[in-house]
Amino acid sequence: MQSDEPDTHTTTATLEAPEIEVVHEVPRPPARGVGERIAWGRIVPMLVLQATCGLVFFTGWSPVAVIVCVALYLVRMFGITAFYHRYFSHRTFRVGRVMQFVGALLGSSATQRGPLWWAAHHRKHHRFSDTDMDAHSPHAHGFLWSHIGWIASPRHHKTDLAQVPDLACYPELRWLDRNDLVVPLLLLGALLGLGAALEAWAPSLGTDALQMGVWGYSISTTLLFHGTASINSLAHLMGKRVWPTKDKSKNSFLLALITLGEGWHNNHHWCPGTVRQGFRWWEIDCAYYGLRVLALFGLVHELRPLPARARNDARRIRG
Ligand SMILES: [Zn+2]
Ligand SMILES: [Zn+2]
Repeated sequence: MQSDEPDTHTTTATLEAPEIEVVHEVPRPPARGVGERIAWGRIVPMLVLQATCGLVFFTGWSPVAVIVCVALYLVRMFGITAFYHRYFSHRTFRVGRVMQFVGALLGSSATQRGPLWWAAHHRKHHRFSDTDMDAHSPHAHGFLWSHIGWIASPRHHKTDLAQVPDLACYPELRWLDRNDLVVPLLLLGALLGLGAALEAWAPSLGTDALQMGVWGYSISTTLLFHGTASINSLAHLMGKRVWPTKDKSKNSFLLALITLGEGWHNNHHWCPGTVRQGFRWWEIDCAYYGLRVLALFGLVHELRPLPARARNDARRIRG
């Protein structure tokens, strides 16, 4: 176990980032089989979680519960887009080892599996975008499969460590990846505790444990899931193409608002190595703005800028 740990000096030094596009040569994944089996053990808990949103008809709402729901959506979406996607999948900025783990914890709280699983699948998505080798292409496999079905396929359960050797060398990340429900369960417990405490000590707020659990976890996490999944499905279907990528990715202002910048998906497929997904001033990219703030405090470093080809490229389709 010790032999593959990183050098101890990396515990304080800024971690090395590889070149802009991380591509590891691994065997091509098989195409989706006809009538592929659904792993109900995986999909049922997710459906149950989403069904618990219906408890809102029993718990009602309160301003504090809705505020917690929105705040947790925004913070955890930042964990997904800034860390799971722009850091772990693409290494578009640098962090120290402690901040790397904090980012992994934040992403993990979204209940979208561990950082190595997420990054490994996403790197494969960029290699095989919109071909039948792409696990979640709506063009190759249909909308429903690209949005939610692929997660229930047994073929996609295991973390393919060959895709993420630069991340798998950290034992704390491997631990979090194996135990990806620890953070979500701690969050759920904290929300139930918060709701109970507020009911006891601040009854005028009109909340309780169940209401806080439903709004803070069930509704917030369900919205978070569909927001993230919309980039796999809708961002390859709706919007405008600006760059002539080989895939069918598109730019969508609406999806960019929902996902803190991920909706500029055609931009991203054109230049996956830059930390920015909104290339022009009006392409709102809240995750990038958040990372700029973290950089001001020295928590993240060396945000990879737009390459010149993304600023003024003759191959641009329009605009
Ligand atoms: Zn894509
Ligand atoms: Zn990406």
